[in-house]
Amino acid sequence: MTVNLISDTATQPTPAMLEAMFSAPVGDDVFRQDPTVNELEAFAAKLFGMPAALFCPSGTMTNQLAIKCHTRALDEVICEENSHIYQYEGGVYSLLSNVSISLLRGERGKVLPGQVAAAVKPRYDWLPRTRLLVLENTCNKGGGSIYTLDEASQLVSEAREFGLAVHLDGARLFNALVETGESPAAWGSLFDTVSICLSKGLGAPVGSLLLGSEELIAEARRYRKVFGGGMRQAGYLAAAGIFALQHHVDRLRDDNARARRLATVLPDLPYVASVAKTETNICIFHLAGELTAADFLTELRAEGIEATPFGPQTVRFTTHLGVDDAQIEFVIDRLHHLTPRVSQPVRG
Ligand SMILES: *Cc1c(COP(=O)(O)O)cnc(C)c1O
Repeated sequence: MTVNLISDTATQPTPAMLEAMFSAPVGDDVFRQDPTVNELEAFAAKLFGMPAALFCPSGTMTNQLAIKCHTRALDEVICEENSHIYQYEGGVYSLLSNVSISLLRGERGKVLPGQVAAAVKPRYDWLPRTRLLVLENTCNKGGGSIYTLDEASQLVSEAREFGLAVHLDGARLFNALVETGESPAAWGSLFDTVSICLSKGLGAPVGSLLLGSEELIAEARRYRKVFGGGMRQAGYLAAAGIFALQHHVDRLRDDNARARRLATVLPDLPYVASVAKTETNICIFHLAGELTAADFLTELRAEGIEATPFGPQTVRFTTHLGVDDAQIEFVIDRLHHLTPRVSQPVRG
């Protein structure tokens, strides 16, 4: 048996999803003539109660389009230090939008009450102009941590008090919503823009959506084109997105439960030092003694299990559509039998 816990981007389209893709009517989306892309955008906009949506190749693009549309050169964006836009998007906000970032140190990737208000810079010629707050739900590097709507509302209020725009990086928002029972529309009404990924736990092969006002999405559509993200017969991909939003949201509960099952077993293993609080489909843990993530993952790979190093002694397990209960029990069985050894340090 092999188990891929590397990322929830590792999913394969299901036969039913492929069927939906094969039978999708398509056209040239740059001319707005792809009926399936139009349908996906309309479906998502309605789901979030937002006026418009834009289908993009990646979540990096939807986040960066939001930053581009909300800011001007020399503005500043506030986010938590673990944020995807800061950690994993190559610093491209500086290139595409000419903005700087102001980092907040919250908890498990979540901004704490009062931090936004405290971070907004006064208006002096010599200071960057604070313009945008970005929140991430769930927070990947924060271990899949959840913001409740109440928590986010307080932070958004702080931002609004200073006239900031607010963007939600909701790459894994649905992993949170199946736990809290909150609606996409409640989150849509709170933020100026929302980004969601179809290619993570939702199981589509490609694609993300940016949601916002008609005016902002029209501007984002223009930038999507000049950034090289205008796709032609993209309806084949959009069909997978529609299928994912219609059929793969509720099942995220299973992914979350499976990650939590792993998190309950890990603390008993002699080679595990600690396990981060696991709320959704991401389980982050730290190895004991001298055991490195590299050595541990090599031994795990020999058992047919793949995962991600998340620091020198930190490992991330991510559950998804391609991992079932039997595979989780297999992983747990292998973890119990593993006696990972510390490789001999090379001495000079
Ligand atoms: C995956 C992810 C994105 C987008 O990543 P792409 O690989 O560009 O699609 C954005 N934000 C978060 C939190 C993510 O996990």
